[in-house]
This record gives sequence, structure tokens and C-alpha cells, in this order.
Amino acid sequence: MTEIPAPVPAAFNGSTGPAHQTAQNTDRIASLLEQLPRAVGMMLAQVVQAIPPRHLCATCLANRIAWETANQRALEAAVEAARAAHGIPEGTPLPPGFDPSPFLPENLAPGAPQGMPALTGAITTVGGTDTCSEHIPGRAAGRTLLIANGALSPSAMAQLRG
Ligand SMILES: [Zn+2]
Repeated sequence: MTEIPAPVPAAFNGSTGPAHQTAQNTDRIASLLEQLPRAVGMMLAQVVQAIPPRHLCATCLANRIAWETANQRALEAAVEAARAAHGIPEGTPLPPGFDPSPFLPENLAPGAPQGMPALTGAITTVGGTDTCSEHIPGRAAGRTLLIANGALSPSAMAQLRG
């Protein structure tokens, strides 16, 4: 019997091509988008509008979509509260940079363990997938790279909100 080698990130072992990995990411995002409630999807679209989509980290985007799906009710409540606070009537489009995160419950606020994941700009492309410094495949867990990333953090979004 041959030993099974430890898994190597697809981008580095050469067994799968960039196109394959890109297709996997695209499928993952597409399947998550299908689950995304319309109202929440509209909000994500507003956020994505602020940055050219090609430069968003694909993993961050997938994580964010999954989080928005899992926390749909809390997010909708936060959007409602933010609308009320900013005087945006229900049914009108949300302005670019609209940020409901200050209205999320504490446990879902950005920075909390289960909090809203940041959407980070990609710093590089690995195997055809845009990725931020946190999500480079094969990167040692918990190690912080000394690279400034172009994060669209909730505080940056708050500044955009004006
Ligand atoms: Zn990322």
C-alpha cells in the first residue's frame, strides 16, 4: 500500500490547473448567491459596487455571502435600523457604502468571533483566484503577513457612508 501524502493546496501541487480552481470558486459563489435572500443580495451588491469585483478576495466574498445567509434575520433587522437612523425609506435603494454593521447585535458585529467578515481587496492572484493576504492557499494558519491589505473594513465603509 502506498502512503497517502498530506494534502497540498491545489494551487501549489500542479495537479489541478488555475482554470479548475477558478471554476470551483465560481461554482461555490454561484451556489451561495442562489441561497442569498433578495434584500440581502441587494445590500451585498451595493458593497461590491464600491470596489471593482475583480479585486475582491474570492474567499472573503464567499465567507461574507455565507455569513449573510446564516445571519439573514439579524442582518435584515440591522438594515431596517440603519434605514430608520439614516432616514432612508424602505423600498428605496441603499446608497453606496451603506453600512448596517453598527446596528448588528454585539455577537455579530465585525471583530466578534461570529462577527461579520470583512470584504478584503485582493493583493495577489493564486491559481487564477484573487486572494487577500489572509487567504493565500497554504499560508500557515494564524501567521500575519507583513503586507498591508486593502481591506474594506466596516470602519472604512462607515467613512464612505458620509
Ligand atoms: Zn480574503
